[in-house]
Amino acid sequence: MSAPILPGAALGVLGGGQLGRMFAVEARRMGYRTHVYAPECVSPAADVADRHTCAAWDDVAALDAFAEAVEAVTIEFENVPRAAVDRLALRRPVRPGAQVLHIAQHRGREKAFLQGAGVPLAPFRLVDDRAALSLAVAELGTPAILKTAGFGYDGKGQVRVKSPTAEALDAAWTALGEQPCVLEALVPFEAELSVVGARGVDGEVQIFGPLLNVHSHHVLDLSSAPSPYGEAVARAARDLGERLLVALEVVGMLCVELFVVASPDGPRLLVNEVAPRPHNSGHLTLEGAVTSQFEQQVRAMCGLPLGDFGAVRPTAMANLLGDLWADGEPDWAAALAVPGVRLHLYGKPEARAGRKMGHLTALGDTVEEAQARVVRARNLLRRG
Ligand code: ATP
Ligand code: MG
Repeated sequence: MSAPILPGAALGVLGGGQLGRMFAVEARRMGYRTHVYAPECVSPAADVADRHTCAAWDDVAALDAFAEAVEAVTIEFENVPRAAVDRLALRRPVRPGAQVLHIAQHRGREKAFLQGAGVPLAPFRLVDDRAALSLAVAELGTPAILKTAGFGYDGKGQVRVKSPTAEALDAAWTALGEQPCVLEALVPFEAELSVVGARGVDGEVQIFGPLLNVHSHHVLDLSSAPSPYGEAVARAARDLGERLLVALEVVGMLCVELFVVASPDGPRLLVNEVAPRPHNSGHLTLEGAVTSQFEQQVRAMCGLPLGDFGAVRPTAMANLLGDLWADGEPDWAAALAVPGVRLHLYGKPEARAGRKMGHLTALGDTVEEAQARVVRARNLLRRG
């Protein structure tokens, strides 16, 4: 194996969002230099990086110059066009690699891969045209969820199909722009969990979780660890994480989102989706784990030994959406007065409704205490 990339080297990250920002902060803490490549000229990641290339994904000269300036490349968002990744890979290791991204970029390919890997999934059908939608609904029934195959995040590009009538299907099909989709049966889950895992260049695997995740309007609202489920569920969740890290041959981070479904034999797990990068639900590893998901990303891309995630204390995380700014600047001092609370803001200039602006984390002696603290702190942000 080639020698590890050591502190002092420049690490490249594709994408300018908050995941790139937290990656860059951790990388710099470890003594690396960071270089962001993003089409946006102002971005949360560029704000904190040593260098920034602001160029389109198809700017070959800019990609080549970026590759020359860094030792290895990682991603903070999986929809980087394939051609850009292939171009960079001519010069530098891109971790995770093009194959993983190719799968994660397309829900249909991802579902097919997960099915092939033998992990439990909700029933689904690939839907390439309106006629296929009718057939899929006839087979899976309603309610179901129709999701675009490409470029979905935070529940965008999804509609619920409540009835099998032609009008309902027409409405769903046009709402998503008449493009290739996946239809999934609605899962009557009792909870959502995730595991975040890292895999090194040498195949070493480390898993954190499972975390308990609560969504609001299809967007992650609260995460906490440890989850309320016992050791059997925790082991099953971590096994799924490890299996998929290995099957996908990820070098870097992978999040596996899970549904917990009640059954006569106890709780069963279904895989919802995977993301080959640090994940919103894993943000609390910055406080709640010995090694954060962003440090694992640095270590993995550099060919260094992974850290032990190790749970430090019960931890909870609450997302801060732009809606919190509706009545003016949130009351930071009030939130920070709550014991065990830490603030992360992503430096986004404009607080639009639904936009992820930052998050709060709270540690506690129990997970209930951590959850109560983080929710109280977030409630205190609203003035009046
Ligand atoms: P993100 O990027 O936030 O993970 P996404 O757009 O990729 O979002 P999904 O994870 O597929 O979307 O769905 C978002 C949420 O919608 C899920 O976490 C879950 O709460 C709900 N959801 C999605 N699919 C189903 C399903 N088949 N049955 C029940 N609920 C679902
Ligand atoms: Mg999801």
